[in-house]
Amino acid sequence: WFEALIAPLRVEGYAPAAVIALRDLTEARRVERMRADFVANASHELRTPLASLLGFVETLQGPARDDPKARERFLGIMREQTQRMARLVDDLLSLSRIEQHLHLRPDTPVDLTMLVAHICDTLVPMAEDTGLSLEIDIAPNVITPGDRDELARVLENLVENAIKYGRPDGGEPGKIRVTLVTTAREAIFSVQDNGPGIAPEHIPRLTERFYRVDVGKSRAKGGTGLGLAIVKHIVLRHRGKLTIDSAPGMGAVFRVVLPSLRVDAEA
Ligand code: ADP
Repeated sequence: WFEALIAPLRVEGYAPAAVIALRDLTEARRVERMRADFVANASHELRTPLASLLGFVETLQGPARDDPKARERFLGIMREQTQRMARLVDDLLSLSRIEQHLHLRPDTPVDLTMLVAHICDTLVPMAEDTGLSLEIDIAPNVITPGDRDELARVLENLVENAIKYGRPDGGEPGKIRVTLVTTAREAIFSVQDNGPGIAPEHIPRLTERFYRVDVGKSRAKGGTGLGLAIVKHIVLRHRGKLTIDSAPGMGAVFRVVLPSLRVDAEA
């Protein structure tokens, strides 16, 4: 799609002419369509739990009014739906804040060694509850320039996803391997699971907002569909790279490469 701007040109002694400027609108239209899709998706995602809440409120005011057992059960579901909406609104706000600051480079030195160890400590119970073991291999003194909270979010999201989606289908024991290594210039964080893996057609789309391979599974696990979009934006803001290697039946490896700061060995 092109937009044409036409200006008449008259110069004495010459035949009348015109200047035509063409502006490529393809990109502008693509961005506009993405924005419209995003608003439609976000509204739909909020509308679903809202509709369910309204249904339960009406039931509680009507048929279930004098049934203490049903009341207890419905209130439990309403609580879950409300928490889901709160998570969604929090994720939408985080994404919009990160996007607004995409051009700003956070540059406080962050000790990734400590951060990865801390995140793993907090997630071990969640992994064990799901029957997964967490194998952790963290290099010492890995420092990156960045924003600690945002980087914590990246690490947390990737390990949580491995716990949520990385359970092997068969009888194999579920294992998640978290590693942090460093080269002279880079810090490389990776999370590997031996779960069902991801088909190639899904991989490039996983970081799109609200894209899920299996919407039912994501919802059941409390997902908002925004986790990897947030991860991608944070990594970009930190001048890093996110890669996803996976194939059906082969598990998945999510890897984040960030610039590293040299640590003086004497220090
Ligand atoms: P959410 O988990 O809230 O659905 P995410 O953006 O974090 O959203 O992830 C998008 C989708 O990517 C998930 O719904 C799931 O289908 C897929 N996914 C993420 N991590 C893994 C993994 N380790 N193994 C298999 N699929 C995964």
